[in-house]
Amino acid sequence: MTARSAQLRLGLTAVRDRIAAAAGAAGREPASVTLVVVTKTFPGSDVAALARLGVRDVAESRHPEAADKVAVGSAALRWHFVGAVQTNKARAIARYADVVHSVDRERLVDALAAGAGAAGRSVGCLIQLSLDPPGAGGRRSGVQPDQVLGLAARIATAEGLVLRGVMGLAPLGEDPGPAFARLAETSARLREHHPDATWMSAGMSDDLEEAIAAGATHVRVGRAILGKRPPLR
Ligand SMILES: *Cc1c(COP(=O)(O)O)cnc(C)c1O
Repeated sequence: MTARSAQLRLGLTAVRDRIAAAAGAAGREPASVTLVVVTKTFPGSDVAALARLGVRDVAESRHPEAADKVAVGSAALRWHFVGAVQTNKARAIARYADVVHSVDRERLVDALAAGAGAAGRSVGCLIQLSLDPPGAGGRRSGVQPDQVLGLAARIATAEGLVLRGVMGLAPLGEDPGPAFARLAETSARLREHHPDATWMSAGMSDDLEEAIAAGATHVRVGRAILGKRPPLR
């Protein structure tokens, strides 16, 4: 095992332990939380090493970096796209992404559906909810709670797309607990209309415990496993 693989293994073990402890504290099964490892800015060799260490779910946030890594990655990996999607890149992303966590507008739904259809693929979609407190000026993207059902209906009826649930990013510099509670509320309301849309993607390196306490089914973790990120180019 290379030094880098040993380092990644340590990070993975630490994060899996944190997930198990947080699930236990919330009275949940650790297996009810899926770890999605965010590999953005790190090389394809790290993706390969993670796959050898048993990681099955990996995420990227930018095209074409994501496409480059899918090309070198293992076929056993599930690819999650977690960054903002430009409409003109949606078709390309639908060719390799298994799940897009950041669906936030109808035009994007249509573009993803077109790409999935052209590629004969099925792409899972999460609706990104803005978790900024009302009046915060929207520093982070996402839809408002009253837009979720409309967007959900659009996804649910689109050929090639599967509505999976919701995603959120805690507001920077604020207690993530109330934000994740708002996401959980929206998730519950969505499930009243779409019972299979059970995913709640929330929690990153610094706040995965709060997310799991609020009911997250998928945590997206980068730095706590891979280390400090090289600057985005
Ligand atoms: C980068 C990123 C993450 C991972 O963040 P870390 O702080 O490195 O754990 C999670 N979600 C999204 C949307 C990201 O862009």
